[in-house]
Amino acid sequence: MTRYLAYCQGDILLTTEGNIPFGDTPPIPLHPWHTVTTLHADTADCLIIRLQSPIVGIAGLQMVGLRQSYEILSREDYALAGKGAELLYWDQNSHYCGVCGSPLKWQTEISKQCPECGKEWWPALATAIIVRVERGEEILLVRARNFRGSHYGLVAGFVETGETLEECVKREVWEETHIRIRDIRYFGSQPWPYPCGLMVGFTAQYESGEIRLQTAELCAGGWFRRDNLPDIPRPASIARTLIEDWMEKA
Ligand SMILES: [Zn+2]
Repeated sequence: MTRYLAYCQGDILLTTEGNIPFGDTPPIPLHPWHTVTTLHADTADCLIIRLQSPIVGIAGLQMVGLRQSYEILSREDYALAGKGAELLYWDQNSHYCGVCGSPLKWQTEISKQCPECGKEWWPALATAIIVRVERGEEILLVRARNFRGSHYGLVAGFVETGETLEECVKREVWEETHIRIRDIRYFGSQPWPYPCGLMVGFTAQYESGEIRLQTAELCAGGWFRRDNLPDIPRPASIARTLIEDWMEKA
């Protein structure tokens, strides 16, 4: 029995009952132009399939946004769907050896090797930090210019080469808000397959400074109490988990 992880753009193919298709035969005919790779998961072997166009009008099947699938799938299946999407993204973006330019071949199910020069290639994770800054009964929330919808989020940003996670937390908070922080503590992490990220969550305490927003990236920001929170990020994100954790501490 095989599980079929089939993707088209940002969507995944699920059954109308909301499950990853499962069985001895694929839920749709596979053709030579489909990109297909395998992945061994704890529960069953998986085939990862890149569809050229969305599947519509086939009884028992539906296309669902990968992000929306969080609300449908179990936590394990959502994680598996994300891993499949990340591997497929990496496969599409790693056709050739960066050293000698030869076409790469799969070596393991999560790595490739150059048949000419022998160089091994692994998926590169884009690591980002996200931080909940507290000041007494308030937290720091910001609104990025590229947010869709009306919600506010937490300060976040990509880790730079040669930087520790804690240094990145301090730098991002300073760059985005001109606030100094202390007591940076690890909170938890989350794969973020949009398209290939790892979000590392922290908490921190306000130390000094007045908010001065980096207006190139942010359009709003401020301190919020539990009783005056704006819209916050959707449940699939570690941002939401960090904010809910703080709300429960009231
Ligand atoms: Zn090479």
